[in-house]
Amino acid sequence: MELTGAVFERDAAGYEEARRATVWNARIPDRFPDLIVQAASVSDVQAAVRHAKAHGMRVGVRSGGHSWAANHVRDGGLLLDVSRLNDIEVDRDAMTATVGPGKKGHEMCEDLAVHDLFFPAGHCKGVAVGGYLLQGGYGWNSRMLGPACESVLGIDVVTADGDLVHAGPEENAELYWSARGAGPGFFGVVTRFHVRVHARPAVCGSSLYVYPLELLEEVYRWAHAIGPEVDRRVEMQILMSRDFEELGIDLPAIVIASPVFADSESEAREALSVLETCPVRDQALIAVPFAPAQLPDWYAAVMQAYPEGRRYATDNMWTSAPFDDLLPGLRRIAESLPPAPSHCLWLNWGPAPRRQDMAYSMEDQTYIALYTVWSDAADDDAYADWAQSRMEAMAPCATGIQLADENLGRRPAPFATGAAMDRLDRARAAYDPDGRFHSWMGRV
Ligand SMILES: Cc1cc2nc3c(=O)[nH]c(=O)nc-3n(C[C@H](O)[C@H](O)[C@H](O)COP(=O)(O)OP(=O)(O)OC[C@H]3O[C@@H](n4cnc5c(N)ncnc54)[C@H](O)[C@@H]3O)c2cc1C
Repeated sequence: MELTGAVFERDAAGYEEARRATVWNARIPDRFPDLIVQAASVSDVQAAVRHAKAHGMRVGVRSGGHSWAANHVRDGGLLLDVSRLNDIEVDRDAMTATVGPGKKGHEMCEDLAVHDLFFPAGHCKGVAVGGYLLQGGYGWNSRMLGPACESVLGIDVVTADGDLVHAGPEENAELYWSARGAGPGFFGVVTRFHVRVHARPAVCGSSLYVYPLELLEEVYRWAHAIGPEVDRRVEMQILMSRDFEELGIDLPAIVIASPVFADSESEAREALSVLETCPVRDQALIAVPFAPAQLPDWYAAVMQAYPEGRRYATDNMWTSAPFDDLLPGLRRIAESLPPAPSHCLWLNWGPAPRRQDMAYSMEDQTYIALYTVWSDAADDDAYADWAQSRMEAMAPCATGIQLADENLGRRPAPFATGAAMDRLDRARAAYDPDGRFHSWMGRV
């Protein structure tokens, strides 16, 4: 194989370091590819895929390694690390950019800000656009701008034969359709995304309310009721955790942190004003109706909940179930919360506007996700099943799951409509008939 990037065979020096470096979650899976290729160029990607084809190897692809389940690390075959394809080119006049899959979302936002532009990148530092855009992409101002995959205008892809093709509405249209929602089941290597970028909002800010956990029923019942009416420029995110040290809260609490994107401060305040209507507002431990903030401030705040170097387990659900059906599950989550920063996220999302025709096809009014965070491998038995078992218990209330926080290898659940799954299967059969690329670790 002729490459400029590095190659590690199993058991060779550097292999284990290279394998571990591909995974952000400190729970590195006991799965071992035969070969790891660190592509340094698009032609490296083509050479690696051709090598895999010639040797009957399956391929797993890694951009930023933020798949919680480390979907790209599989037993046997070739692990293709494309994180080094991470450049960006911005066309300010056309309001477009092209970006390599290894580009981190927060860095993309920094690069765009120089041009007064914006992209609905993910909420955490380090998430690369590769996996993020393929699975949907729930980012800053995504209630207004749509899941980030709606901003993808085209892709450059290395196919199962090692050919480099462009896919867009007019060319390889099924590949383009699939790339916007197939997530870790995509059957090609994206080497470049062509995206629409957006004007930077004039005003960014946030409200912040903290309630003691005893008020769970009052707070969530109200949030459930107002959800559909909340201005689409507001991302109402509700976190439940055993404490929020960074806010000086050392008791179990509910934090409602709601970023807003607007044209003026008065509009931002107006959009957030509904959050003042909580019936237990007078019992809030902290209440800040509006404070200006910028993306770097938000990234710093969010990363408190997702520290690096920890062990993580996640699971999730979409729902529009009546509140009384959700309440017992929420109570069980609250009663069994593992230590902070483990938390439950309630994201107010719907009602969804009409979306583009793409593989991404499942969403609902509210998104609930659980993130268990711990440090010591000796605690795996205590914590590894919490998120999954709580979501299993609430499954009758779920319409499906998001691929962002997927746990498909352990709990298969629907993440696209039946029609979209059939179409994805047909596209895979056409573009990857030999199953060269690994698919989802589980599906229904
Ligand atoms: C701390 C943290 C915060 C997060 N926050 C958000 C958030 O705010 N919003 C959100 O929507 N998601 C979020 N996620 C989920 C994240 O978007 C997904 O896990 C996404 O897949 C990560 O992309 P990646 O390239 O970093 O990961 P990777 O692990 O490299 O990729 C995930 C999978 O995507 C496929 N893939 C990746 N790159 C390519 C490529 N170039 N070509 C073909 N297939 C590819 C592979 O199947 C791979 O296994 C978060 C995850 C973490 C760990």
